[in-house]
Amino acid sequence: MEWLSDEERSLIADKLKERGAIIPCSRCHRSNFTVLDAYFVMPISNDMSVTQLGGRSLPLAVIVCDHCGYTVCHALGSLGLLKKPEEKHDK
Ligand SMILES: [Zn+2]
Repeated sequence: MEWLSDEERSLIADKLKERGAIIPCSRCHRSNFTVLDAYFVMPISNDMSVTQLGGRSLPLAVIVCDHCGYTVCHALGSLGLLKKPEEKHDK
């Protein structure tokens, strides 16, 4: 598995800045964060009693506070960063 490159992580950080997602950590009020080198892929369902692995999912960028570890996620689609599977493999 290929982890996110520094370039991909910088692109996510730039998009968050562009969208104004720049306030300090809501838990410790520090301002240094790390974009994790992997996505969080959350399974989604239209049935609350079913968790289906391998079905539909919500791909998320993961941002971690460097001081307290508070972790937040941002939907890649909302940031305009969703890639079709073939685009990922073309690299
Ligand atoms: Zn924090």
